[in-house]
Amino acid sequence: MRPAGKSGKAKVKTKGEAAALRMLPSVDECLRAAEHDDALSAIGRGWRAELLRRALAQVRARLAAGDGGADSREQLAARIIAQARAALADDEPPLRAVVNGTGVVLHTNLGRALLAESAIEAIAAAARHPVNLEYDLDSGRRGERDALVEGGLCALTGAEAATVVNNNAAALLIALNTLANGREAIVSRGELIEIGGSFRLPELMAQSGVRLREVGTTNRTHPEDYVRAIGPDTAMLLKVHPSNYRIVGFTAAVELSELAEIGRAHRLPVVEDLGAGALRDLSGYRLPREPIVAERIAAGADLVTFSGDKLLGGPQAGIVAGRLELIERIRRNPLKRALRCDKLTLAALSATLQIYRREDEPAERIPALRMLRRTAAELEQIARGAREILIARLGGGFAMEVIESAAEIGSGAQPTEEIESRALRITHPELSADAIAAMFRRARPPVIGRIRDDAFMIDFRAIEDASALAVSFPAF
Ligand SMILES: *Cc1c(COP(=O)(O)O)cnc(C)c1O
Repeated sequence: MRPAGKSGKAKVKTKGEAAALRMLPSVDECLRAAEHDDALSAIGRGWRAELLRRALAQVRARLAAGDGGADSREQLAARIIAQARAALADDEPPLRAVVNGTGVVLHTNLGRALLAESAIEAIAAAARHPVNLEYDLDSGRRGERDALVEGGLCALTGAEAATVVNNNAAALLIALNTLANGREAIVSRGELIEIGGSFRLPELMAQSGVRLREVGTTNRTHPEDYVRAIGPDTAMLLKVHPSNYRIVGFTAAVELSELAEIGRAHRLPVVEDLGAGALRDLSGYRLPREPIVAERIAAGADLVTFSGDKLLGGPQAGIVAGRLELIERIRRNPLKRALRCDKLTLAALSATLQIYRREDEPAERIPALRMLRRTAAELEQIARGAREILIARLGGGFAMEVIESAAEIGSGAQPTEEIESRALRITHPELSADAIAAMFRRARPPVIGRIRDDAFMIDFRAIEDASALAVSFPAF
């Protein structure tokens, strides 16, 4: 048996601790004291009482642990008030701005594409005022919310019609459910993808009520494989862009144009899930070539689906574009009501599409494209500027070196292709890379970097300006 006391776990208190606990002010006393505190008296009574109760519990726990027993009742009340005030100062909205130093431009966990200024303004205006979301200003009658973006999408993709839902997973879900519920969709075994933990094509198809008919093998699928699988139950042919992996070596896949011919011959719609879906050719920015939506429509896809917040550089959304008759069927599906976008998304998407229609160089105004287009020399400048700022803030002890690094588009776009980048490698003789990473996560705003070769790194491919690193570090 261990003797009871401070060092043991037993509940028996020493005389001093018991006396200190008796000295603790009540919640009512704390509430009265808080009336004289500017910050605490400015918030609602319920939240104020809650913060004081929590602070009181913390101080009580510390007294029970033998810390601060000599304090007077007034001193204890002051400690509780100070603790509650600190908790209030920390009480920020849970969704916070962070600095993306990961080198992944479209980082799903960090919210993917940053919006263009005009899209941000459109969101603010739609939030602040009533809007013609489903109201036709010409006729004065009820309108269709898709109409806000359909014109732009058709002009930019060559599609006859388009509809928008919550994200690309939803776009594929509603396309499958509308065209093939209770029937079969034929898809190549080489395209049965998982993107992140939560998007697995076979599971999504099961939820949409569609039976998956797999053809070919992992590395090779031929036109005859599709043709042989077509039967009375076949409702569509599905092609999925292998966003986040590559099958290399002895491979064969059926081109979209070939698949479209098979579809036409058997009167079956051909649907392609493009994933990122670029609206413009980005190869001029020294970027790997992603499929361009207009080219896929031209190559014969009856419908394509793609994300709004990947290479398009807009808000989270899933776009279905293609033949009018099929889009109209999707619009009549009751799922459309469950999956539709809100006014803020449509405001941002229509403003983003307007940039593509108006500008020869959309990358000037669309942050995701602007970030991807920058040269390594530009990033080097930003990295050097950030180094100066951080040296001034963190002082000696930290070693900071601008190094060559490799960034990614992210969100599954061109995973095997790395984009030349620059990073700041930050080390400290007494701190592990994990400890430095944690310190940067606690900064205001938090800086999210990555660890490579046992060192903490901040990559500048997704950081537009050195001043982004003018962050403050709480005492460390
Ligand atoms: C990213 C992606 C999806 C999922 O899109 P979300 O907009 O995240 O729902 C589906 N299919 C492919 C091929 C993708 O790349």
